[in-house]
Amino acid sequence: ANTTRAKKTAAGFSLGLPNATLGEVVTRFPPEPSGYLHIGHAKAVMLNQYFARMYEGKLLIRFDDTNPSKEKVEFEETILEDLRLLNAVGDSVTHTSDYFGQLHDYAIQLIHSGKAYADDTDSTMPVEHDCSCPPKSHGKLSKMAYERFHGIPSSRRSATTEESLRRFSQMSLGELEQDGAKWCLRAKISVDNPNKALRDPVIYRCNSTLHHRTGDKWKVYPTYDFACPVVDSIEGVTHALRTNEYRDRNPQYHWMIEALGIRPVNIWDFSRLNFIYTVLSKRKLQQFVDKGLVAGWDDPRFPTVRGIIRRGLTVDALQQFMLQQGPSQAILSLEWDSLWALNKKIIDPKAPRFWAILKDNCVFVDVLNGPTEPFTKTLPKHKKNPDVGTKVTTYSNRIVVEQVDAAAFELGEEITLMDWGNAIVRDKKFAEDGSGSVLSVTVDLHLEGDFKATKKKITWLAPALDRPSVEVTLLDYDYIITKKKLEDGDNWEDFITPNTEFREEAIADANVLDVQAEDRIMQFERKGYYSYDGRGSDGRLEFIRIPDGRAASLAS
Ligand code: ATP
Ligand code: MG
Ligand code: MG
Repeated sequence: ANTTRAKKTAAGFSLGLPNATLGEVVTRFPPEPSGYLHIGHAKAVMLNQYFARMYEGKLLIRFDDTNPSKEKVEFEETILEDLRLLNAVGDSVTHTSDYFGQLHDYAIQLIHSGKAYADDTDSTMPVEHDCSCPPKSHGKLSKMAYERFHGIPSSRRSATTEESLRRFSQMSLGELEQDGAKWCLRAKISVDNPNKALRDPVIYRCNSTLHHRTGDKWKVYPTYDFACPVVDSIEGVTHALRTNEYRDRNPQYHWMIEALGIRPVNIWDFSRLNFIYTVLSKRKLQQFVDKGLVAGWDDPRFPTVRGIIRRGLTVDALQQFMLQQGPSQAILSLEWDSLWALNKKIIDPKAPRFWAILKDNCVFVDVLNGPTEPFTKTLPKHKKNPDVGTKVTTYSNRIVVEQVDAAAFELGEEITLMDWGNAIVRDKKFAEDGSGSVLSVTVDLHLEGDFKATKKKITWLAPALDRPSVEVTLLDYDYIITKKKLEDGDNWEDFITPNTEFREEAIADANVLDVQAEDRIMQFERKGYYSYDGRGSDGRLEFIRIPDGRAASLAS
């Protein structure tokens, strides 16, 4: 049955594919193995996976490895790991290079049918010319770009089939060494179609670089414009999901398939994802790594899959967010806050609660009628969710609180020591340096007091009985660029945020020692959500603050 199943997404609209048959839909995610996956790729793979599941079809993962100058085997491994992090599992993993033989045959078929020609019009050197080019490209166009822009046919367009076949064969053999690199194969579609994507696009290029999988077997490589539709068709893809900046190229995509007489494919456009204050180009991200502005591709400041997950974003939140974008065609710069707010709703019911006290200038508090001997109590890690488990809190007649809390105490004021009870502030001693900072405080426990009547609910720590207090570092980050949206003409280096990492030392309750790498999202009460990040080089446990979508603490 030809069903179009449309499901309501979280955002309330229907999300479905045209011409989709249950059990027969095949989608694909085609990353180029030239870097790590970022949040834009996550959108693409999640939408592809969503439709494959919804129609009980298949998701193919295909490495689009048509440019040996940019691609490497290790990026295939990292991309597969990134996909696992996203819980995206393909039904198969293939390579465009698996089809180089067939693609080459198809190229020859196009020449035979008069639908492609070999061309040596220069496509690299800017040429002098006066005309009405857009100022952006004026003086920067190569001869080929200039001709395409103005609808001028290449002088090779009228070459005979035999001539083009001979040239293509020479290109393929790596002959014409000097000259060869100049030659390419172009589809003969149109000279002056208003849609410039149809003006005889290049479909094969010479490249003598060794390919990471096929070595020196090929001296010519298909372009994305040719390989993508052909391999989609060969592999049985029924729906090719593409970002809408390719919309002009959709007719070209369909042309390739028609010209070869192979199985047609539906195209479904979605909008490219952008975020404010965010760089998503692999090339620029690589420069941030190379310049040491971040620690690596998994840096929590990075919009890479690794970076955002390390910072505490859940795959569930990502998925919901991407489906909310759904079929929207608007290319907007989205706010990170809305994604983090969604994430907070997901982590809040499960994140265990711990306490940390900033170390700098922290204040000792004597609890006058406190316990003569320290004792412990077992408490829930999450008051509203017993499934999260329990923790052990130590009580003692000497505790520590943060300077800001102590500074706000007024003599005689009744406050609440969280998870303990009320106390009345009896004494407050100040540092003698005139700085106004509090040295120590004395309180009287007042356990019969009503915690609902106090304004200040204070987190505090007593040294644990059996374990030393835990030294931790709290980390927070700012955006790596200072401009909301980089424009084409902007030199990105002018917009690098000088200082983007903020570290604070704290002591935490000993229960944080039980936080595991696999279950690393938690909350320091009154501070925020954190992602446990292992031990730093100084041996301290490190916790990365997870933004919660409210006006960011530092990055606003
Ligand atoms: P980059 O420009 O960052 O290098 P790319 O588009 O060249 O990215 P590919 O590996 O070719 O990277 O992309 C694989 C798939 O991911 C493509 O189908 C592409 O449409 C999609 N994709 C890439 N970037 C985004 C984005 N910002 N938003 C949505 N989809 C994206
Ligand atoms: Mg690409
Ligand atoms: Mg790109």
